[in-house]
Amino acid sequence: MIRDLPAFRQAVELLTSATSLTLACHVGPDGDALGSMLGLGAAARAAGKKVEASFGEPFDLPRTYRFLPLDLLVPPGEVTEAPELFVTFDAGSADRLGVLASRVATAETVLVIDHHVSNTGFGTVDLIVPDAAATAEIVYHLVSALGWPLDEEAATALYTGIVTDTGRFQYSNTKPETLRVAAALVEAGARPEVVGRHVYEEVPFGYLRVAGAVLGRAVLEPEYRLVWSVLTGDDLAAGGIGLEDTDDLIDLIRIAEESDVAVLVKELDRGRVKVSLRSRGRVDVGAVAVALGGGGHHNAAGFTWEGTARDAIAEVRVRLPRD
Ligand code: AMP
Ligand code: MN
Ligand code: MN
Repeated sequence: MIRDLPAFRQAVELLTSATSLTLACHVGPDGDALGSMLGLGAAARAAGKKVEASFGEPFDLPRTYRFLPLDLLVPPGEVTEAPELFVTFDAGSADRLGVLASRVATAETVLVIDHHVSNTGFGTVDLIVPDAAATAEIVYHLVSALGWPLDEEAATALYTGIVTDTGRFQYSNTKPETLRVAAALVEAGARPEVVGRHVYEEVPFGYLRVAGAVLGRAVLEPEYRLVWSVLTGDDLAAGGIGLEDTDDLIDLIRIAEESDVAVLVKELDRGRVKVSLRSRGRVDVGAVAVALGGGGHHNAAGFTWEGTARDAIAEVRVRLPRD
């Protein structure tokens, strides 16, 4: 039981005694990073704490998450230099905080809340629960043990984290406990149809063009049971969307039934690429990502690479089993 963990009790003590909280989630934040951070932030604010929340550059918020309590957010340049309590969310290592990693050294106390199995801890207290489907699931237990108000705003943010990290309750990380937490969040005011619409049913028209381009150049390599594609800067410009709005693109290519592993390479600036990896379970893409300087989970992982998309694909390919 998560609430019996010594780190859980220590986390509750830290959060109870702090008057001011500085929150940070991983760079390029997803629904769990933002949802867990803003969910805890909203509940802490309702409990009378002073709260600021941020994430490292680029400080671009995915359009999808504009319905979350964003008034808690400040740009990373405005984050307190020496926080009283610095709390990190969904970041498997300090470098995943980007420019805000510096606060790990300057804060009085650091609390790490995460569910990445690769996280070896970098805080004063490390609440790392790999069994949790989402960091937001851990945060729910904290808020409830703290007795902080869980209003509709906080419940919606936490529910968003769970929905996105479980792929709408369809991945193997969806445990009975995950569904119990989700049920409690719906009871507290989260509305599945509202979260579902914002996250999965609303994209700008330009996204269709971008998806078309990425799907159109997808490659299947049957000998590796690999499907891969590339997203270019030109695609984004033509579609009028940002890199931060492309998190779900990989979900369109990974469904090819001939594949066990899907890879989407996204061109960044200056000859760098960001690589997203997905597995159906046979291959541990987390290990592949770690070997290439990144991280993640068994079935979903990523890394950034200096070089071309083809270089990055080649690096992944040599680490895959061949049929
Ligand atoms: P993504 O493909 O960006 O959706 O990321 C999938 C998973 O891999 C998430 O759990 C991320 O936290 C993790 N991940 C992605 N990129 C990196 C990276 N550069 N370093 C460490 N972990 C990463
Ligand atoms: Mn994440
Ligand atoms: Mn997560």
